Amino acid sequence: MNKFLPLALSAALLVACESKTATTGEANTATSAETIQTDSLNPATAATSGAAATAEAEANATPAPDPSSIPAGKAGDAAAILARPQVPILCYHQIRDWRAKDSKNAKDYIIPIATFKAQMKMLADSGYHTVLPDQLYAYLTTGAKLPSKPVMLTFDDTDLDQFTIARPELEKYGYKAVYFVMTVSLGRPNYMTKPMVKQLSDEGNIIGSHTWDHHNVKKYQGQDWVTQIEKPTKTLEEITGKKINYFAYPFGLWNPQAFPELKKRGFVAAFSLAEKRDQQDPLFTIRRIIASGYWSPRTLHNNMVQSF
Ligand SMILES: [Zn+2]
Repeated sequence: MNKFLPLALSAALLVACESKTATTGEANTATSAETIQTDSLNPATAATSGAAATAEAEANATPAPDPSSIPAGKAGDAAAILARPQVPILCYHQIRDWRAKDSKNAKDYIIPIATFKAQMKMLADSGYHTVLPDQLYAYLTTGAKLPSKPVMLTFDDTDLDQFTIARPELEKYGYKAVYFVMTVSLGRPNYMTKPMVKQLSDEGNIIGSHTWDHHNVKKYQGQDWVTQIEKPTKTLEEITGKKINYFAYPFGLWNPQAFPELKKRGFVAAFSLAEKRDQQDPLFTIRRIIASGYWSPRTLHNNMVQSF
């Protein structure tokens, strides 16, 4: 059954996410072109060498308190969480050059290498600092301070090019990221291996859970929670030697019934896609946008500004 899984997954992913990119994507291209110009051309924020680079690296992904040290009342205060400005969070999948057989829709999920590099350079030149989920959690629940111009970079589905292409690119800027791993793919051709995931974790990135084989959370019953959530999360904890606190919904799809199930299994927050947050439980519907392969750095920036 698993033999055909990667293909089925890509197809399902594309169908499920199509409508979401449409709402956050190309429609916005022409609206705020001036923002990016002022930011990226500012020489004061463009320095990335010597002492400046060290300071930049320190500002990126500063350690934050463990979420378990934050009182439950803070995490339960939905109104306070919703009132805080959202941090832009970008979601990436494959990073590789387009092939002739890639469909039009697939190209939202496949970002050409040069486009990805240009997007990262834009973020760095514009003075963005990457933040990690513990920092975001402390900010959302207690108002803890974040570095200036925070952005979170997230990579879903365990694709190998996240290690071979994205990792060295992020390293140039001292950037850290979140990798939401679907454990069924570990070690398969074109996917990351367990030692790669371990290395990403050891290097200060965060590993999150993204189910066993990418089934829709809204359809889970009984044993599905064990198969899709408990076992794969335990696998990730064994690989990294760290507790896994964060979850990303396959296809960005969620329902409120999932929240207690995730909480029961130790998660403190979960990430969706561009849809509106749940008004009672915003920590379990933290929004992200898919950074499309069609987006120039300027389009990406426009979407970051407008969507969050
Ligand atoms: Zn996924």
